[in-house]
Amino acid sequence: MKYWIDTEFIEHPWSIELISIALVAEDGREFYAESSEVDWSRASQWTLHTVKPQLSGPAMSREAIGYGVMGFTHGDACPVFWGYYPAFDWVALTWLMGGMNDLPLHFPQLCLDIRQWAMALDDAPLPVQEGAKHHALADARWTKAAWTALKALDPHGAERRCADRPF
Ligand SMILES: [Mg+2]
Repeated sequence: MKYWIDTEFIEHPWSIELISIALVAEDGREFYAESSEVDWSRASQWTLHTVKPQLSGPAMSREAIGYGVMGFTHGDACPVFWGYYPAFDWVALTWLMGGMNDLPLHFPQLCLDIRQWAMALDDAPLPVQEGAKHHALADARWTKAAWTALKALDPHGAERRCADRPF
Protein backbone atom coordinates (compact mmCIF):
# COMPACT_ATOMS: atom_id res chain seq x y z
CA MET A 1 0.00 0.00 0.00
CA LYS A 2 1.12 3.55 -0.68
CA TYR A 3 1.44 6.17 2.04
CA TRP A 4 1.86 9.86 1.40
CA ILE A 5 3.80 11.38 4.25
CA ASP A 6 4.76 14.76 5.62
CA THR A 7 6.41 15.99 8.77
CA GLU A 8 7.11 19.31 10.36
CA PHE A 9 10.43 19.50 12.17
CA ILE A 10 13.13 21.70 13.64
CA GLU A 11 16.42 21.17 11.91
CA HIS A 12 19.87 22.18 12.90
CA PRO A 13 23.09 20.53 11.92
CA TRP A 14 23.09 17.74 13.14
CA SER A 15 19.58 17.07 14.24
CA ILE A 16 16.06 16.83 12.83
CA GLU A 17 13.54 17.19 15.64
CA LEU A 18 10.05 15.98 14.87
CA ILE A 19 7.17 18.38 15.55
CA SER A 20 4.34 16.56 13.77
CA ILE A 21 3.79 13.77 11.28
CA ALA A 22 1.03 12.65 8.96
CA LEU A 23 0.51 9.64 6.75
CA VAL A 24 -2.32 9.36 4.25
CA ALA A 25 -2.88 5.77 3.18
CA GLU A 26 -4.00 4.57 -0.22
CA ASP A 27 -7.15 3.10 1.37
CA GLY A 28 -8.17 6.52 2.70
CA ARG A 29 -7.04 6.16 6.31
CA GLU A 30 -5.08 9.02 7.84
CA PHE A 31 -2.62 9.15 10.72
CA TYR A 32 -1.64 12.39 12.40
CA ALA A 33 0.29 13.04 15.58
CA GLU A 34 2.26 15.79 17.26
CA SER A 35 5.27 15.35 19.49
CA SER A 36 5.05 16.35 23.14
CA GLU A 37 8.84 16.48 23.30
CA VAL A 38 9.60 19.47 21.07
CA ASP A 39 12.27 21.84 22.35
CA TRP A 40 10.77 25.06 21.06
CA SER A 41 13.80 27.03 22.17
CA ARG A 42 15.53 25.59 19.11
CA ALA A 43 12.81 26.60 16.67
CA SER A 44 13.27 29.36 14.11
CA GLN A 45 11.03 32.41 14.10
CA TRP A 46 9.48 31.06 10.91
CA THR A 47 8.61 27.78 12.62
CA LEU A 48 7.22 29.55 15.68
CA HIS A 49 5.03 31.78 13.53
CA THR A 50 4.05 29.35 10.77
CA VAL A 51 4.03 25.82 12.15
CA LYS A 52 3.41 26.07 15.88
CA PRO A 53 0.09 28.02 15.71
CA GLN A 54 -1.41 25.28 13.53
CA LEU A 55 -0.82 22.51 16.06
CA SER A 56 -3.96 21.15 17.62
CA GLY A 57 -2.99 17.82 19.16
CA PRO A 58 -2.98 15.08 20.12
CA ALA A 59 0.57 15.45 21.41
CA MET A 60 2.38 12.32 22.49
CA SER A 61 5.85 11.02 23.04
CA ARG A 62 8.00 10.18 20.04
CA GLU A 63 7.96 6.57 21.21
CA ALA A 64 4.17 6.54 21.17
CA ILE A 65 4.14 8.13 17.70
CA GLY A 66 6.49 5.39 16.52
CA TYR A 67 4.13 2.72 17.77
CA GLY A 68 1.30 4.63 16.11
CA VAL A 69 3.04 4.58 12.74
CA MET A 70 3.78 0.88 13.15
CA GLY A 71 0.14 0.23 13.98
CA PHE A 72 -1.01 2.31 11.02
CA THR A 73 1.09 0.25 8.61
CA HIS A 74 0.58 -3.07 10.43
CA GLY A 75 -0.27 -5.99 8.20
CA ASP A 76 1.02 -4.26 5.07
CA ALA A 77 3.76 -6.48 3.70
CA CYS A 78 4.91 -3.97 1.09
CA PRO A 79 4.53 -0.34 2.17
CA VAL A 80 5.58 2.36 -0.31
CA PHE A 81 6.19 5.88 0.96
CA TRP A 82 5.88 9.07 -1.06
CA GLY A 83 6.82 12.60 0.01
CA TYR A 84 7.60 16.01 -1.43
CA TYR A 85 11.29 16.82 -1.01
CA PRO A 86 11.08 14.09 1.62
CA ALA A 87 14.72 13.66 2.63
CA PHE A 88 14.30 15.18 6.08
CA ASP A 89 10.78 13.78 6.52
CA TRP A 90 12.12 10.32 5.92
CA VAL A 91 14.88 10.70 8.49
CA ALA A 92 12.34 11.91 11.03
CA LEU A 93 10.03 8.98 10.26
CA THR A 94 12.75 6.35 10.39
CA TRP A 95 14.10 7.69 13.69
CA LEU A 96 10.68 6.92 15.17
CA MET A 97 11.62 3.27 14.63
CA GLY A 98 14.99 3.81 16.28
CA GLY A 99 17.18 4.35 13.23
CA MET A 100 17.75 3.20 9.70
CA ASN A 101 18.98 -0.19 10.85
CA ASP A 102 15.92 -0.58 13.06
CA LEU A 103 13.44 -0.18 10.22
CA PRO A 104 11.11 -3.16 9.91
CA LEU A 105 12.51 -5.52 7.30
CA HIS A 106 9.47 -5.10 5.08
CA PHE A 107 9.91 -1.31 4.99
CA PRO A 108 11.76 0.23 2.04
CA GLN A 109 14.90 2.13 2.93
CA LEU A 110 13.85 5.19 0.98
CA CYS A 111 10.90 7.47 0.45
CA LEU A 112 9.95 8.21 -3.14
CA ASP A 113 10.02 11.87 -4.12
CA ILE A 114 7.17 13.63 -5.92
CA ARG A 115 9.49 16.52 -6.83
CA GLN A 116 12.03 14.22 -8.46
CA TRP A 117 9.27 12.46 -10.39
CA ALA A 118 7.92 15.81 -11.63
CA MET A 119 11.42 16.78 -12.79
CA ALA A 120 11.71 13.52 -14.71
CA LEU A 121 8.44 14.45 -16.42
CA ASP A 122 9.86 17.72 -17.78
CA ASP A 123 8.85 19.67 -14.69
CA ALA A 124 5.25 18.62 -14.92
CA PRO A 125 2.95 21.08 -13.16
CA LEU A 126 1.67 20.16 -9.73
CA PRO A 127 -1.64 21.21 -8.21
CA VAL A 128 -1.78 24.37 -6.13
CA GLN A 129 -2.19 23.61 -2.43
CA GLU A 130 -5.31 25.34 -1.20
CA GLY A 131 -5.95 25.99 2.48
CA ALA A 132 -3.51 25.13 5.24
CA LYS A 133 0.18 24.73 4.44
CA HIS A 134 3.03 23.61 6.67
CA HIS A 135 0.61 21.45 8.61
CA ALA A 136 1.70 17.86 8.26
CA LEU A 137 -1.74 16.42 7.51
CA ALA A 138 -2.64 19.15 5.03
CA ASP A 139 0.72 18.71 3.33
CA ALA A 140 0.44 14.91 3.24
CA ARG A 141 -2.99 15.22 1.62
CA TRP A 142 -1.54 17.60 -0.96
CA THR A 143 1.31 15.17 -1.63
CA LYS A 144 -1.29 12.55 -2.52
CA ALA A 145 -3.00 15.08 -4.81
CA ALA A 146 0.33 15.83 -6.48
CA TRP A 147 0.99 12.11 -6.94
CA THR A 148 -2.47 11.74 -8.49
CA ALA A 149 -1.73 14.56 -10.94
CA LEU A 150 1.54 12.95 -12.01
CA LYS A 151 -0.07 9.53 -12.27
CA ALA A 152 -2.27 10.89 -15.04
CA LEU A 153 0.92 11.63 -17.01
CA ASP A 154 2.88 8.53 -16.03
CA PRO A 155 0.70 5.66 -14.79
CA HIS A 156 3.60 3.21 -14.80
CA GLY A 157 5.83 5.50 -12.71
CA ALA A 158 3.09 5.84 -10.12
CA GLU A 159 3.44 2.18 -9.23
CA ARG A 160 7.21 2.10 -8.71
CA ARG A 161 8.39 0.43 -5.57
CA CYS A 162 11.58 -0.65 -3.93
CA ALA A 163 12.63 -4.22 -4.64
CA ASP A 164 13.71 -6.46 -1.79
CA ARG A 165 16.82 -5.42 0.09
CA PRO A 166 19.95 -6.91 -1.46
CA PHE A 167 21.43 -7.48 2.00
MG1 LIG B 1 4.98 20.10 5.71
